[in-house]
Order: sequence, then structure tokens, then C-alpha cells
Amino acid sequence: MIRFKSFKRGLVLSATLLCFGLLATATQAQTPAEFQAVVDKAHAKYLPLQEGANADYIPILTETPSDLFGVVIVTREGKVYSAGDVDYVFSIQSVSKPFTAALVMTQQGTEAVRDKIGVEPTGMAFNSKMALELYDARSVNPLVNAGAIAAVSLVQAKSEEERWNLVMQNISDFAGRPLTVLEKVYDSEYTTAFGNRAIANNLYNYGRLYSDPEEALRVYTRQCSIGVNAKDLAVMGATLANLGLNPLTNKRVMPAKDVPELLAIMATAGFYDESGDWMYDAGLPAKTGVGGGIVAVVPQRFAIATFSARLNEAGNSIRGLRAIRDIAGELGVGVYGPNPE
Ligand code: GLN
Repeated sequence: MIRFKSFKRGLVLSATLLCFGLLATATQAQTPAEFQAVVDKAHAKYLPLQEGANADYIPILTETPSDLFGVVIVTREGKVYSAGDVDYVFSIQSVSKPFTAALVMTQQGTEAVRDKIGVEPTGMAFNSKMALELYDARSVNPLVNAGAIAAVSLVQAKSEEERWNLVMQNISDFAGRPLTVLEKVYDSEYTTAFGNRAIANNLYNYGRLYSDPEEALRVYTRQCSIGVNAKDLAVMGATLANLGLNPLTNKRVMPAKDVPELLAIMATAGFYDESGDWMYDAGLPAKTGVGGGIVAVVPQRFAIATFSARLNEAGNSIRGLRAIRDIAGELGVGVYGPNPE
């Protein structure tokens, strides 16, 4: 009886594996149950983890409840799989950076980003001033503060108001819903933005900032203060996975042809001076923010986003990065392929 049962189970298992194998080679797709299972598992595994601390150089970020934790996958078809606190609204911070770079690409093409900002990873902290002195590109890449402030200054606009409206509309379009600024976060960050002001002024001095420096600083800081939840980040990532077409609204947010360049920058600089480690572990283009958000993109398939405010030394969310790393490994979706058996 036992033998028969396990034989039968074996048959069912081989049939399932065969079906899944065929499906996997045909479409490389995961089933809804598999997506939900990896999300639930990663959430349950890291929920108790206490390592790391909220960012405190922006005073109000210490008030974000550090125990909250959400994990969510959104596919390029707009299917959502989530666990935990995926509706809690927090500030987008640096997760906004690739999306404003996308706006610059949309307006001026990918070469403008290379020529006027740069695309090299710095190997240094996101707010490094030394990187500005070491590299001829100065702003270096659009995912560190200098390059992100330069990207805001590059947005083609006739006034500060228009610049802000374009930035805000673009990020809302990626999220597929109208977002708003968390004004208390903005006040807290702008009144303490001495480092970023120094960066903006230095860039201007080097001819690598393309608007009034204080205007760029204000718009950049507002951009970082936009409120999002983990689901929004996953939809933004899914829009990149869907080659610039938002899967929820069907609106084209950026040209499909520019998406690979944007993902390349996210792969090499999305985790700042930890980007090498991140690609070694997860193999996915991604972006983190000191508000606790992360979004990672599986090109042309789906996005994984997380929220947890406790960060490591590099300013990356610890529970989030581990959850995404595990999911990428389990599904074998790193861009360099799964580890062969
Ligand atoms: N607004 C933050 C800053 O400029 C963004 C940094 C981050 O999320 N890494 O410092």
C-alpha cells in the first residue's frame, strides 16, 4: 500500500514536473501558486529579523515603524502576489532615481544620460562628495545623489513648477495612480539637506548641473518625499519589465528601446557600493531607498518589491534585500540564469 502510494505520488510528481518543465521551456512562467508560495515564504522567513536600523540623517525617517515588512510581486501582465505590509505608505527616496533617469531618456535619449550625467558605478556611498572629485563625469551616474540631482536639472522645463509637475507625473504614471508628497518628510529632509546642497553647488561649479542648483535640490528632495507603498514600487518595476508600458493602465511611460539601458544602470549601481555583492547574490537590476523600499526587475517578466525600514551600512533594506535574493534564487530568474544543478 505504502509502496503503491509512493509510486502513484511519484507518477503524479513526474507528470507535474514534466508539465512544468514543458511550460518552463515554453514560457519560462511560474504558476500563480508558485509566485504566492515564494512571496509567503520569504516574508515569513525574514519577518522576525531585527538587524539594521532606520535611516536617521533625515530625522523623520526614525519614526517609520521598523517592524513593518511587505513583499510583493507584480507581473508584466499586472498580476499581484503579496504578503505583509504592502499598503503602508512611506517615502520613495532613492527608488525614485531610475524613474527620473527614465524621464530624461524619454525626453532626450539614452546618450544624453551618458554624456551629461554618466553611467559608471562609483563604488562609493550614495552621498559621496569624493566621487565628484575623482571622476571626470562628476555626477557619475543617475542613481547616486549627485547624478540624481543632475537628472532633475536636466528635465526640460521652463519653470520650477513645470519641472516638478513633469517629475511627479512621470513617477505617478509608472505607479499607475496619482501619488502625493509626504510634506513632513520633505520638510525634514530639505531643512537638513546641507550635504546635498553642497553636491548641487559643486556640480554647478563643474558645469555638470543644468538648472539653478537650489531649484534642482528642491525638486530632487520633493521627488524623494513622494509617498508610495510596496505595491506601487512593484507596479513601477513591472512597467519596466513590460518594456515601459504600465500593465495596470496600459499607458506608455517610456520608450521600450530605452529600457535595457536603464536596467543596466540599475544592475551596476542600484545598490550603491554594494552593487557588486547584490548582483553576485541576486543577479537582478534593482533600486533601493533609505525609506526602506526596494524594487528589483526580472526583465520582460515581473518585478519584486519590498518594504522594511531597517537598513544596513550602505543604506539598503536588510529584510528586503534578503527576501528578494531568496525569491530570485528559488525561481532561478537572475539575469545570468539559474545555477545549473
Ligand atoms: N533623499 C535621500 C538623500 O538624498 C535619498 C538617499 C537614498 O535613498 N539612498 O539622501
